[in-house]
Amino acid sequence: MSRYFANIYQSLSSIWVGMNITLKHLFTPAITLQYPEERWEMPERARNQLFNDIDDCIGCDQCARACPVDCIYIETEKTDDDLGLTSKGTKKCLKVLRFDIDMSLCCYCGLCTYPCPTECLVMTPNYESSVYDRTDLLYKYAKPWEYDQKSEPAPESDDVPDAEDTPDEEAKEAASAD
Ligand code: SF4
Ligand code: SF4
Repeated sequence: MSRYFANIYQSLSSIWVGMNITLKHLFTPAITLQYPEERWEMPERARNQLFNDIDDCIGCDQCARACPVDCIYIETEKTDDDLGLTSKGTKKCLKVLRFDIDMSLCCYCGLCTYPCPTECLVMTPNYESSVYDRTDLLYKYAKPWEYDQKSEPAPESDDVPDAEDTPDEEAKEAASAD
């Protein structure tokens, strides 16, 4: 008989404890974030998605050598062409033909960003980089085609089509004639 009343007491006391917790949270403000309408604000210097401002990259390879998991792939080519300067005034002597980062291997240590002499490789606060296909995590930053465009000779003045001869202008003329 005493066991019967002990069970009733235990049940009621656990309901009381549970309801107390429920009531406490009923009157405290919710901390649920309504993602994606709301987003966490990342702390200063958060290490998330890497970004390379390729226009400032001199292809020195220091970032790749610092990477503990070898997930930065760089291919460069020496050239006598004038490639100009970086935004900080460093002369560019190498064509950066490939600059890929495999973020599926990256451990977000940030070690690659410290030795970069032009400070073009940075960790951004962007943490929304989920993909369905792992191969989509290979980020390609190099723009090798731009070197070809720069080395092409400027067209002769005779080769440059007159503005009136362009398809858009012809279409406009045709429309106004109707
Ligand atoms: S953050 Fe670390 S693991 Fe990722 S690319 Fe840079 S050095 Fe490599
Ligand atoms: S360390 Fe900086 S400049 Fe050198 S290859 Fe890496 S990103 Fe480019």
